[in-house]
Amino acid sequence: MEHNLPGAADQAAFLVDLSNVVRERSLGGPAARSLHRFRLVVEALGRLTGDPDVPVYPVADKSLLGEAREFADPGDVRTLRRWINSGLVEQAGDADQRILELMELTSAAHTRAVTNDRFGAYRRVFPWIQGNTDRFLKPVAGPSGTVRLIPLHMGTRTEAEISRSDELAAFKKQELLKSSGQPLTRVVNRFWRCPEPRCTVYDPRGGRVLLPRMLGGVPSCEVHRLALADAGPRPAMAQLKAMIHGVCKGRYTVEEGSQTGVGRNPVNGIVLYSLLPSDVAGRVSREHVVVSAQSGILLVRDVSRCGTRMRTAGRRGRMGPWKDLPPGQDRPFGPGDEVELAPGVLLTRSGRRFPAELAAAWRTEGTRRPTPTAASQPTALD
Ligand SMILES: [Zn+2]
Repeated sequence: MEHNLPGAADQAAFLVDLSNVVRERSLGGPAARSLHRFRLVVEALGRLTGDPDVPVYPVADKSLLGEAREFADPGDVRTLRRWINSGLVEQAGDADQRILELMELTSAAHTRAVTNDRFGAYRRVFPWIQGNTDRFLKPVAGPSGTVRLIPLHMGTRTEAEISRSDELAAFKKQELLKSSGQPLTRVVNRFWRCPEPRCTVYDPRGGRVLLPRMLGGVPSCEVHRLALADAGPRPAMAQLKAMIHGVCKGRYTVEEGSQTGVGRNPVNGIVLYSLLPSDVAGRVSREHVVVSAQSGILLVRDVSRCGTRMRTAGRRGRMGPWKDLPPGQDRPFGPGDEVELAPGVLLTRSGRRFPAELAAAWRTEGTRRPTPTAASQPTALD
């Protein structure tokens, strides 16, 4: 087995997402974690390539050895520890990211990765994942206890799906996901205050509203490691983006209970004037649509001279047909939906619905003029 492990990514034909393989129960054995599954994958790579000595470079999360008792065979733990200590297996804080980095570094050699992960949270950083069909292999159970490898088609995620993945990754980082994968709403829907008097990390007036970090099940201050005090409900918010010819030129947050005009130059609202290409600026009304957030639902209303079209996102991000918005009537504006003010000028609702959106930034942005730099800046959570 060890002759398959060169201990260097650039000498390997395949990277293996080791934690993902070791934890995959469908590959054989009832244990939560089993190194045998990795051996089966290496055998499958040997058959696939016709080379029983095929060189493989496994990357494991630090957490793989963390709960050693999940391995039914204590020998697995000893072997894995030895492989890590001798550099045959690389350990990484974030194995997903490390595998993608190594794939980028070895792209000339077309090094492939064995995984069952579609890396939804990484598509912004590694855009080449989008639509890829030839660099990822998925291990599946084969006949009589073997493993087969099949191409993993990565598919193309829509902007709304990518935003949703970003959101989940941000929650995961703060340990704000339940084991079901749902966010801990009792924590994320509240404001929090640090008992350290000078601490402003969680002060909603500070301009950046961080989510608490969970320490031992208690919402805690990232900086002072102290338990935070509940500071009341956090208003729900939605994020809007101005897309000009397919490029995001501005991001805006809309708060619960608010009503906001969007157009070329509305009296009090989202001003698109500086973003609009000259050929279409005249087709966008001074106030074109009104977006309002009521009881957690976002609505959009056409108030323009020339009309507005909208299409809604269906399941799996598939877009419905364009339809004219009936003038003066509120329509639900869901995540992924697109509102077209003029050809090439879209208002979209991002998948992000969580409170990391900077309420205060919105409030303090007196003119509410979009700034392209602010649009490209990471949020407080990133
Ligand atoms: Zn603090």
